[in-house]
Amino acid sequence: MGEGNEGIFPVKDALEMVIMFDRSGKIVYANDAAEVKLEYDKDLCGRNISDIFPNHFATAENGLETEYPFGHGLQNLVAYRKNLTCFPVEVRIMESDGYPETYICMANDTLVKEHLRREIAQVKQEVRQAEKVKTEFVANVTHELRTPVNGVLGNIRELLEMETDPDKLRPMQMIERCCGDMNKIIDNILDFSKLEAGKFTLEPHRFHVRDMLDYVKAHHINKITEKGLEFFVTVSPRVPEYVVGDELRIKQILNNLLSNALKFTSVGKVTLEVLKTAQVNDRIELFFIVIDSGIGIDKADRDKLFQSFSQVDASISRKYGGTGLGLNICKQLAELMGGRIAVESKKGVGSTFSFSIWVDACSDDSGASFRTDDVKKSALMKSRGEMQGQDPGALKQFGTQENRAALEKNLSKLILCVEMENWEKAEMFMETIRQLTERAPREVGRAVLRLKMAIQRGNYEKVVSGFEEVKGFLQ
Ligand code: ADP
Repeated sequence: MGEGNEGIFPVKDALEMVIMFDRSGKIVYANDAAEVKLEYDKDLCGRNISDIFPNHFATAENGLETEYPFGHGLQNLVAYRKNLTCFPVEVRIMESDGYPETYICMANDTLVKEHLRREIAQVKQEVRQAEKVKTEFVANVTHELRTPVNGVLGNIRELLEMETDPDKLRPMQMIERCCGDMNKIIDNILDFSKLEAGKFTLEPHRFHVRDMLDYVKAHHINKITEKGLEFFVTVSPRVPEYVVGDELRIKQILNNLLSNALKFTSVGKVTLEVLKTAQVNDRIELFFIVIDSGIGIDKADRDKLFQSFSQVDASISRKYGGTGLGLNICKQLAELMGGRIAVESKKGVGSTFSFSIWVDACSDDSGASFRTDDVKKSALMKSRGEMQGQDPGALKQFGTQENRAALEKNLSKLILCVEMENWEKAEMFMETIRQLTERAPREVGRAVLRLKMAIQRGNYEKVVSGFEEVKGFLQ
């Protein structure tokens, strides 16, 4: 082989180095790339493969000594040039099919690749460093901002206590509100930068679910009365009294969703509903739904809602204010708690935001709380049962004759109310249907929930299809 055989090797001009050697290691062919890369002057043939890969091949009296795993796998070796400098290569060496007792070695210079890998690692390191600097900067600036804002807030509150002149009180109250808003923005920026930097940690502890909801309600009560809105909170009796979770962050999500619901609703109502949707050993999935009858959100805008700094349009931010960070923080918090956030909405009709989270059951008192709920629930069912002259146990049990009859009756009353556009009354029957299906299989529960949402949103078409779906389960 050698000069005369070059024509039969289509690899002559290949970018990859191609070297052939015999059993003794003697190189019998080298393409141009190998000659150039290894800096030989057309004199690579006749050399030994151990000159190129001295760490893996050695010449011995009885031939070539090597532990190289011949085959098709790629190996990372170091190749030596004629001048004994070296560079990393990716190599594949195998026995040649066409030439007996000959090996073929194909090698790629990975120096550039290696350089790129190192550069990427360095850039990544620099980005991480820049992120760290940015996070620290944001934390410092927001902290620095908080001090003067709290200074103004403290003083204005003192002045407010002393002031009686209504003309002076109004601007002072405005200053107080602005300081409060500023603090909220500072909190959001701090949370956002911590979440982005992966430095956010949850702080779970045992808390009373219904007390937390009362607190949340109290937080919004002024806005609700100011706007003359209706506000309902319903908690499924299946939700335990105590759970272990990060109460502060759950409140934060609820407050954000409720503030938005109240901000974007001028007539009608806002409801908050809490359900227990799953339990796996000691882990409980809680599901929160916030429904409003506000301005609603276009389908096209819905996807961007949970992105950071996203507001539906500039006119909305001018009219209603906000940073566009709230929902992104809610999404990240819900995901940190093992759940998800979602939105359904219709422009001009209203929006439904829902999120799930996983919490731990309290081994000491959750059983008791379940019993307490059961007692309350059965008392409720008992009075209802007594009123209707039915067996309350059977009434509660999905699929029993009593349960089915009660469901049929309430469903037909509900659809009648919907036909007559008496949505308020429809909601009443809906609540009874919900209670009657509390012990039903999951898919029935979901269908009932869909029907309930359709009723709360006054969506006739969806109510009819939801109604058919629930009826389908009865048959
Ligand atoms: P912001 O702090 O600006 O309110 P959010 O992330 O909480 O930020 O909300 C982003 C945008 O999503 C709002 O500016 C508004 O356009 C839209 N949005 C959120 N909730 C509602 C809602 N209940 N009804 C209508 N639009 C909403």
